[in-house]
Amino acid sequence: MVAQSSRREFLEAAGVAAAGACLTLNSSFAAEDRPAQVIRKKGSAVNQNDLAIVDTHQHLWDLTKFNLPWLKGDAVQKINRSYLMADYLKLIGSHKVVKTVYMEVNVAADQQAAEAEYVLDLCRRDDNPMVGAIIGGSPQSAEFANYMKPYAENRRINGVRTVLHDDDRPKGMCLEKTFVDNVKLLGEMDKSFDLCMRPGEIGDGAKLAELAPKTRLIVDHCGNMPVTADKQQARDAWMAGMKEAAARPNVFCKISGIIVTAKADAWKPQDLAANVNFCLETFGIDRCFFGGDWPVCTLTAPLADWISALKEIVKDKPLDFQKKLFHDNAVRIYKLQDK
Ligand SMILES: [Zn+2]
Repeated sequence: MVAQSSRREFLEAAGVAAAGACLTLNSSFAAEDRPAQVIRKKGSAVNQNDLAIVDTHQHLWDLTKFNLPWLKGDAVQKINRSYLMADYLKLIGSHKVVKTVYMEVNVAADQQAAEAEYVLDLCRRDDNPMVGAIIGGSPQSAEFANYMKPYAENRRINGVRTVLHDDDRPKGMCLEKTFVDNVKLLGEMDKSFDLCMRPGEIGDGAKLAELAPKTRLIVDHCGNMPVTADKQQARDAWMAGMKEAAARPNVFCKISGIIVTAKADAWKPQDLAANVNFCLETFGIDRCFFGGDWPVCTLTAPLADWISALKEIVKDKPLDFQKKLFHDNAVRIYKLQDK
């Protein structure tokens, strides 16, 4: 999720064309009800149909309730409509999504508190798998501590994100004193902060991690490096930043988002493998976890196809590895409650 102009630039830079979502699968979130999907690969020792999945990056937006200024951008017209929990539950197919975590959607700032209430209501209800939320918030603001106060003890509010790659977010913003102090405050509340940054600036996230060592920081979307990018200099800068981030024990990596940078209608799982495997090797399997990034992913592929692609990439890894990636690490790192 990125704001209007930078989302467009990001997508254009990545060569992403608008694509239909072709969303057809259906089911309730009770995985037992679903037909088995045959995705077990030849030679794979793991029955991937049985993998329990935590989707740690589920966006929802009800445009009758919220204003998302970035959705006016040309590159995102395909997803410029409401996306509700009921839509999501129809699209996870035979994948066993057992928990989801809401990810903030960059609503207008005066709607952030209402956004939090909206998702807390979903967490309370038993008709969906949502168990927690990463809410919007502005650590750059002196008001942030006041804003967070009502959520300090709320175990459904697991963390905060503010995207750092919008045009109005200068490089180095996350290292300004107020920002750092507020990220430290999140750690004191036992909440995390998601780093959604330009791929060449991940090193700043590493510095923030050093300044706020008690706060868990999660690098979103494999560090936002487009999978189609072939400029070595850009890849080198991203890789160097990711290595610096991985050197801090309080930084984690969300395997998400990159599907939107693949070529719509002409991608295959292997196109994503280099970026995914670099992240897995750099952070190690204990510090990586899956995120769906629906419905943004549908600009390139249906959610179920993105999940299948990641399963394909790791199909030869041991069961323990796959469980950590798709489920266990998310519960541990985001400190998720049961429903
Ligand atoms: Zn997103």
